[in-house]
Amino acid sequence: SDYPQVADGLIRAIENWPEDGVTFRDITPLLADPQGLSATVTALVDEARAFGPIDVVAGVEARGFLLAPLIAQELGIGLVPVRKAGKLPADVLSESYSLEYGDAVVEIHTDAVTAGSRVLIVDDVLATGGTLAAAVRLFERAEAQVAGALVLIELPALRGRDALVDVPLTALLEY
Ligand code: 5GP
Repeated sequence: SDYPQVADGLIRAIENWPEDGVTFRDITPLLADPQGLSATVTALVDEARAFGPIDVVAGVEARGFLLAPLIAQELGIGLVPVRKAGKLPADVLSESYSLEYGDAVVEIHTDAVTAGSRVLIVDDVLATGGTLAAAVRLFERAEAQVAGALVLIELPALRGRDALVDVPLTALLEY
């Protein structure tokens, strides 16, 4: 596919953001571009279908929220938000994970998925894998089956794949 070529020119590298030494991959030009956005959704949906039957799409706050609903709508299924701590109003399951400085927590509602349902987890970027691994643990605790994890961008040098053993993972782009 020519997707990587289309997308590459629309993903902007921001040096030393959010801190010195980090190159942040900014997807906002891709989202803003009609052809880029359309090609991205098409490519993500193709990869989503390759995981087999999916019952629900889970989007990870915040940038996973920009992609997951587009995929869910195209697949004709529903959306579950994986949120940062304290944002969801009803009873929640929580999982914490380590960041470079300190911890972070992600949550889903306890009734977000029915037991046995096949979940596709979507985020924009796989870096160290801490975020996606915590999301996987949430759905396992909810007795769902994680059919796959789908990201737009993988940063292979950060070895996020190693944090996601036993979960099929697909990335459209690597930097
Ligand atoms: P991880 O937990 O894999 O280390 O980090 C992944 C999370 O951080 C994702 O939710 C993602 O949105 C964010 N992230 C880390 N690095 C980048 C980056 O270079 N670009 C973007 N857009 N998000 C990033």
